[in-house]
Amino acid sequence: MVLTVKHAGINKNDMVNGEGVSVSFWTQGCPHHCVGCHNPETWPWGGGIEKDIDEITEEIIQAIPANGIMRNFSILGGEPLCTPNIAAVDHIAKKVKEKYPDIKIYIWTGYTKEELEELYKIDLINLIEWADVVIEGRYDYLQRDISLPLRGSRNQRVLCKNIDF
Ligand code: SF4
Repeated sequence: MVLTVKHAGINKNDMVNGEGVSVSFWTQGCPHHCVGCHNPETWPWGGGIEKDIDEITEEIIQAIPANGIMRNFSILGGEPLCTPNIAAVDHIAKKVKEKYPDIKIYIWTGYTKEELEELYKIDLINLIEWADVVIEGRYDYLQRDISLPLRGSRNQRVLCKNIDF
């Protein structure tokens, strides 16, 4: 059981990452180091803010319906699905989905679907069964395209539950 989680930040009214308004949660630590990454401060494993996992989960759960506006939940990085982060992310996301089954959970990962399935020896749908939309693959500045929804470079894929994974 993970007792604390290191994270880089929370935005309780994010209009950029996801559709509509989201509560966005940035994990700390990333092994990919993509050239041109917008969040290099999330790379170091020693950085970020350490918090009790139940406290942060409750903070997210309270923020989702605040002021009568139902928000989605977006998980970004850093790398949320690397081995040091996946247990905490799984714990938080499961609690959020249990409380709000009708909202969408988005997750951005630098791994591809195939890399995750190889790393954890499990299908993506079972690895993150709470996720509705996965934006996967490392950011490649040579394939940068600001017109793409939800992603920054053309190599990245947007996978939707029950269609792509
Ligand atoms: S995976 Fe994301 S956070 Fe990590 S270096 Fe690449 S763009 Fe940055």
